[in-house]
Amino acid sequence: MRRVFRKERFGLIVQPPLTKSLVFVSRAGARVSRPLSAPVEAHLSITTACPNDCPHCYESSKKRGVDLGPAHWKGVIETLSRMGVFHCAIGGGEPAIVPWLFDLAAHARTRGMVPNLTTSGAGVTPEWARRSAVFGQVNVSIDGPDGLRGEKVFRQAVAAAGILRRHRGDVGINCVMTRRNFGRLDEVCALAKRLKLTEVELLRFKPAGRAGSLFGSLDLAPDQYASVIPTVRRLMLRHRLRIKLDCSMVPAVASAGIKPRLMEFFGASGCEGGSELCSVDAKGNVHACSFDARPECRADELESRWPSGGAFRRFRRWEEKGAKICLDCDWFETCRGGCHVVARHLTGSWYAPDPSCALAKRS
Ligand code: SF4
Ligand code: SF4
Repeated sequence: MRRVFRKERFGLIVQPPLTKSLVFVSRAGARVSRPLSAPVEAHLSITTACPNDCPHCYESSKKRGVDLGPAHWKGVIETLSRMGVFHCAIGGGEPAIVPWLFDLAAHARTRGMVPNLTTSGAGVTPEWARRSAVFGQVNVSIDGPDGLRGEKVFRQAVAAAGILRRHRGDVGINCVMTRRNFGRLDEVCALAKRLKLTEVELLRFKPAGRAGSLFGSLDLAPDQYASVIPTVRRLMLRHRLRIKLDCSMVPAVASAGIKPRLMEFFGASGCEGGSELCSVDAKGNVHACSFDARPECRADELESRWPSGGAFRRFRRWEEKGAKICLDCDWFETCRGGCHVVARHLTGSWYAPDPSCALAKRS
């Protein structure tokens, strides 16, 4: 039975039946206050083993990677479940080739959590796809024919998405946007439509792991950041698809002039690290977000460290030292300064405004 609600100081977080969304319900007069009593979602990198060798892997995965085994990861699930976490997003490395993956996902279900999965498609067969019913959502990493993963991995991912869709309902695409593939997102959406997939999530390229050294040449160019929202609008209308942007893209949404109240209405949320989100890496270390190199603690220490751990506080209390330009910005409550991982990579400062933000550059 999946978790239906969790009590918070301001009221409740509710997961209505038959939906994947979470609704924050405040008592009369109470504002949603952070930190929450626990993350709502945890990202779990259960292995760094992966046959693909993608040049931009944020986990720097290798063919022979780190894998702490099922007992460790079931322990992590126990901790997250006790804390009241709703969703766990399982990734890697390549989680689909991990022999105990389905056992772990079933364990998460018995503890009231919804397991979701991201895969490159390696190891996905019809039998694998049938067993994937245990997951709420499965997304396949497809960056298009011009993506960095190479043609072989692209073809493998397209085949896997087709197999998955023949055996289950909710299958989507995770597409990392780069300077190179931005002009061909249309093809990724057309592919999703042709395969009858449910969503395309457009992810920003992040400077973590192996991707760090490529960031300067592959991060979107300023004119591409400026055209993200018009492009998403056009793609949604043309392909009639659900297209999502990740947490780090809020400065682009704000710069396009989408009003904060409208963003709030649609549940858009900027930097969620250490607040709604945490991640556990393949070595068992907990981080505020998957792309932040600084670990806070081991997974079995998370319950005691969540309320005040320093790695989490840097995210939650960013405004104590954050750039004035962001603190004065109308979008700050939603955006929270943009992606701090990108800011630190490009400027050396955790507290600089997101360098992609056109509003920050204009002021
Ligand atoms: S630092 Fe914040 S905005 Fe950037 S990826 Fe992590 S959670 Fe998202
Ligand atoms: S100025 Fe800062 S808070 Fe405002 S949208 Fe840009 S990055 Fe976000």
